Amino acid sequence: MLNPSASIPSLSSRAEHTAAQAEGFVPAAIAANTAGISLRSLTKKYGSVVAINNINLEIAAGSYCCLLGPSGCGKTTTLRMIAGHEAITSGEIWIGDCRVNTLPPAKRNTAMVFQNYALFPHKTVWRNVEFGLKMRGVSPPERTKRVDEILEVVALKDLAKRKPHMLSGGQQQRVALARALVTRPQVLLLDEPLSALDENLRVKTRGELRKLQRQFGMTFIQVTHAQDEAFSLSDQIVVMDQGQIDQVGTPQTVFSQPASKFVAQFIGDNNIFEGTVLQVESNDQGAVIQLEVEGLGRFSCYGQAANVGMAAAFCVRSDQMTLILPGNRTTRVNTVTANQICARITAVEFTGYVTRVSLMLEATGQEILYKILTHDWVTHRLQEGQLITLSWRVEDSIFLSH
Ligand code: ADP
Ligand code: MG
Repeated sequence: MLNPSASIPSLSSRAEHTAAQAEGFVPAAIAANTAGISLRSLTKKYGSVVAINNINLEIAAGSYCCLLGPSGCGKTTTLRMIAGHEAITSGEIWIGDCRVNTLPPAKRNTAMVFQNYALFPHKTVWRNVEFGLKMRGVSPPERTKRVDEILEVVALKDLAKRKPHMLSGGQQQRVALARALVTRPQVLLLDEPLSALDENLRVKTRGELRKLQRQFGMTFIQVTHAQDEAFSLSDQIVVMDQGQIDQVGTPQTVFSQPASKFVAQFIGDNNIFEGTVLQVESNDQGAVIQLEVEGLGRFSCYGQAANVGMAAAFCVRSDQMTLILPGNRTTRVNTVTANQICARITAVEFTGYVTRVSLMLEATGQEILYKILTHDWVTHRLQEGQLITLSWRVEDSIFLSH
């Protein structure tokens, strides 16, 4: 349980930061109050619709985990099953060392922040936050103490008497957060908590969420369809597609080594080339795999294992390609063996720091994307319609078996 005598650092004004906060102060009693999650062969069917198809997942106690995937892939369903708001069809859910399959939500030591916040419109901020404690039969003096304490943490103390319609989106989001945290859960479940906020506030609130999770040390499981959110928040990202898990890994791994064509596409700005495996050279780290791409020739990429003759693909990030100007060999290109293509510029999009160049491979008609620093792009004076050569290192092309 949260130690009532422990002073909880405030998220509010930067000036109020104590030395303890700067070091990521975590009251011992709070840090201990956390639990890991284990989903085992978990399945959810709605009639004939299989929303979650036999997933297995381990989430470490005290970690920040994001369920990432497109709309309809089963993120909310998974979260609601962990919370106990949705019955499971088969499989097991463990919270810490407790199998919670049929346990009612209030007994699971979880709390949920809903996508639409679901605040009571006629109650004040203070009463909204108090509600869960009242339902749990917490005594009035203890309720007062805990509500005041948590409103301090989320910087809402001055707005305690307001009703939700008198708050900005960001403030409403913090009320929803306070209402969940005040019950002192071991696991906090957040369903797209930032989706209703504008971009600047989204980035700011994201930072606050991460800080809060570190301070409290409890397990956060957050649903999101936004890659940047998952990348910036997570210790562990779970990429989901059509009720299944495609990849579990750190943000760095998911970004640089997508495990499937779906993940490569979803993470974005990857160019994917489909082909047939010609040759596999295994070494200690994995294998260098050679693929034949119809119309384009042979390419080498890194992977774990592959069978000669199998249909497969590889991806290369649009920012990992190098432009080769006629007669100009950069140092980077010198390390390349064979990964090179010729493509025609079809569109140039200025996005600020980076310019996005769309290209078409004349041999196959495939469209690809090349990202380059605007500062560098303008020096090349290239135009739509021109043919250019792009090259990339073997170690930057990732083999995709499916
Ligand atoms: P996400 O949160 O990733 O957008 P959901 O978990 O809400 O996806 O939904 C996963 C799938 O389950 C979707 O195909 C959705 O239509 C279906 N689904 C969700 N809730 C219900 C329900 N109550 N009845 C029938 N189908 C549902
Ligand atoms: Mg959802």
